[in-house]
Amino acid sequence: MKPEHQKYALAEVPRYTSYPTAVQFHDGVGEDDYRLWLSQIAKDEPLSLYLHIPFCQKMCWYCGCHTSVAHTYDRVGTYTQDLLAEIDLLAAAIPGHHGGLAHVHFGGGSPTMLNDADFAAITAKIMAVFGARPVMELAVEIDPRTMSAQKAQALADAGVTRASLGVQDFNRHVQEKINRIQPFELVENTVGWLRDAGVHAINFDLIYGLPGQSVQDVKHSTELAVSLRPDRLAVFGYAHVPWFKKHQEMIKTDDLPGMEERFAEAHMVGQVLQGAGYIAVGFDHYAHPDDSMAKAAEAGTLRRNFQGYTTDTADTMLGLGASSIGALGPGYVQNAPSLDIWRNAIHDGTLPITRGVALNGEDAMRRAAIMTLMSAMALDLGGHAIGFDAPENALDDALEKLLPLADDGLVEITGRKVKVTPEGRIFIRNVAACFDTHWQMSTGRHSRAV
Ligand code: SF4
Repeated sequence: MKPEHQKYALAEVPRYTSYPTAVQFHDGVGEDDYRLWLSQIAKDEPLSLYLHIPFCQKMCWYCGCHTSVAHTYDRVGTYTQDLLAEIDLLAAAIPGHHGGLAHVHFGGGSPTMLNDADFAAITAKIMAVFGARPVMELAVEIDPRTMSAQKAQALADAGVTRASLGVQDFNRHVQEKINRIQPFELVENTVGWLRDAGVHAINFDLIYGLPGQSVQDVKHSTELAVSLRPDRLAVFGYAHVPWFKKHQEMIKTDDLPGMEERFAEAHMVGQVLQGAGYIAVGFDHYAHPDDSMAKAAEAGTLRRNFQGYTTDTADTMLGLGASSIGALGPGYVQNAPSLDIWRNAIHDGTLPITRGVALNGEDAMRRAAIMTLMSAMALDLGGHAIGFDAPENALDDALEKLLPLADDGLVEITGRKVKVTPEGRIFIRNVAACFDTHWQMSTGRHSRAV
């Protein structure tokens, strides 16, 4: 890494899966705001759903998700019943909507903790109340340790079209340090079961910066991953925030690779994947040229939401389940993370929103600028203001803030056009932060850029 780039790698910057980011959510936004925003959804507008399943079989020490270990199925079964009730409540809040679902994503936690009957009941319910668009993607995050041939078939029968497998790292000594023992054969079998069942779109998640992991380990893992021919790979840097996620205390700081090593690991993943023919998408995704994400990146239709980069074209994403976040034109809302608060609200017949943020015209303009930059790696500020309720020059402060990044070779600025250089791609979060009026350096609330 060039010495002048080290300050960017060390900076704690948001991942910008939303703008403003979740750090800015507050309890001044609640159910009344949400009901108003829902009433403003056009009846024929396509919708996207995110369903959160906050249970896992075992806790991975690196985990940053909202989840807990379910020792018995009772908790999962009860949760399913409450989730079905929440789906009904949400559908009742948008009466007459007939735009259908463009995209459904089951995340967690581990959605594969649901038994086959409960998973089928949830998918049947959302199809019955919202309906599907002629082309709809139904994606599910998968913990290979919970999988079997029968489960793969059940997912396919319920309509799953894309499976996203948590792979992370294939090296046993790294797996031991993160409390996630998952042999290559298990992942290989899971991919085979899914493909045999008819789920052909396969995503892998890989992580660098894990304890005990070396550049060579990352190379080995990535090569093994490529051998299974996934359609997409998302590559994340481990964020060590034990003050926020207590179980991360199980990871010794001394075992973590340093900044230069992390940078080299991220670079190695890219080298192996691009060498194998995958296209770099955004700053942390890679896609096979035939995959819809590579095509969306090429066509300029790539988007970004709480799941990261997406081909989802719906402007409204509604969240279901404890802690889930919804993204609507006027703002963001989040369900109660506490299972009890979430459940009690549903039993009372109320939408379980506990916080969120409303966007003013300038926020909406900044959101669009950040999402365009993160997806297209370029932004033309001339004409960007059109359609937003904000002054034409509202983002000029960002151009000023970008000047040092241009001096360091991360962006090129021509007039009011900003282009991220190949060197700047990995630092795109630092570039986006120049458009963020809320972010402040070193707040301890975001992960490092690399
Ligand atoms: S399986 Fe995923 S959500 Fe569950 S503990 Fe591990 S990383 Fe977290």
